[in-house]
Amino acid sequence: MINLQFFGAARTTTGSMHLLEANGKKILLDAGLYQGSRKEAFEKNRQLPIDPRDIDAVLLSHAHIDHCGNLPTLAKRGFRGKIHCTPATADLAEILLRDSVHLQLRDLEIVNQKRAEQGKNLFEPLYLEEDVDRVMRQFSPEPLHSLIDLGNHATAVFREAGHILGSAITEELTKAGSTTMDELASVAQAWLDWAAHPDAWLMMPASEILAVADGGQLN
Ligand SMILES: [Zn+2]
Repeated sequence: MINLQFFGAARTTTGSMHLLEANGKKILLDAGLYQGSRKEAFEKNRQLPIDPRDIDAVLLSHAHIDHCGNLPTLAKRGFRGKIHCTPATADLAEILLRDSVHLQLRDLEIVNQKRAEQGKNLFEPLYLEEDVDRVMRQFSPEPLHSLIDLGNHATAVFREAGHILGSAITEELTKAGSTTMDELASVAQAWLDWAAHPDAWLMMPASEILAVADGGQLN
């Protein structure tokens, strides 16, 4: 049984985050930072569409901050599962997430200085270096083409995406079992193209579908 919910980049240009339910497992596809106006970003990045404690695992497509930048917030709020990504993505994500902390602190310094002068309460950063330390321990680097076990017979495979170093398209593999074509039809046409995979597995290239929903390009 599969289901896909679009939270982020399908309608906006940044902040990719989608929920895939595969055989009862809740798998988050990316957890990006929204990078619009300061006020909008402040609100959107703090309002997560799902309780992080309910997420079983994350599949991270690549290290750009609009795809990985909100991972420390998940860890800060109780997500304890694994973050599956390619080894290069894990290395790059650590650099970019630590940089994200410094950028936020620098931005807040300016904002809070103004707010202090106006007698307003001061804003807290979305997350700190210690939250990045914590989330990095949850990263589980997976080589391209290896089978990633997500539990309950749901598995995934990373394939080369050619976007940035380490970027990957994810194929979700779920035993066909109770999933019918009718159920699939409600998700996306692109999934249907893959549904007749000859080895009796159902193959769903989730990130690729998200890319289609995004206008045909990975962001
Ligand atoms: Zn990107």
